[in-house]
Amino acid sequence: MKPQIFSLKFGINTCYIIKGMGTIMVDGGPPNAIGKFKKYLNKFGIDPKEIQLVVLSHADFDHMGSAGAIKELTGAKIAVHENDKANLEEGKFNWPPGVTTWGKISHALFAPLMKNKMKITPQKADIILNVNDYPLEEFGIDGKIVFTPGHTSGSVSVLLNNGNAFVGCMAHNIRMFTLRPNLPIYAEDIDIIKESWKVLINQGAKKIYPGHGKPFSVERIKKYL
Ligand SMILES: [Zn+2]
Ligand SMILES: [Zn+2]
Repeated sequence: MKPQIFSLKFGINTCYIIKGMGTIMVDGGPPNAIGKFKKYLNKFGIDPKEIQLVVLSHADFDHMGSAGAIKELTGAKIAVHENDKANLEEGKFNWPPGVTTWGKISHALFAPLMKNKMKITPQKADIILNVNDYPLEEFGIDGKIVFTPGHTSGSVSVLLNNGNAFVGCMAHNIRMFTLRPNLPIYAEDIDIIKESWKVLINQGAKKIYPGHGKPFSVERIKKYL
């Protein structure tokens, strides 16, 4: 069965719903996204109770801020890597440092403002990821969660058997950050991200769905590795 993919945009963030035999979601959006989330479910004809799992690509505020509210509405479990678990459960404001000139400037300009503005509710994780590959068959999805650190030490990606890869902030493809699909402008360790990309590519990643911006072919990223 070919999985259906739905994009949910919240400001500069994009979350994804993947519907195969079961339904899961990648990322939980920024804080206060639940109203818009309900509208998306309506529009897509998805019953909230269908969603069984929210995989957090990492626990930065803009990827996990509404995960708790989504869990409350849907009954979904929240999966996060153990290295990012504390940020989620303590409701910490996390934003990795800039690694490009614009990344550094924008981080210095906006991180203090956002930190003041964002109220993040601490949220409990249900599944703590601590292996390299976590299969998704029990959720009705032909694919797995792959450990892909670098943006944060607990970053993961969802890789479907058909080559679709949901990579969070392993790549950016939004004008505010970069003019073309590229490695992220913020990262704890950009060299580790390059290694994570090699892992994903070796495992068959073809079409990349980033956490910021539109999908693109993996070929666009290979020249940066
Ligand atoms: Zn991030
Ligand atoms: Zn982000």
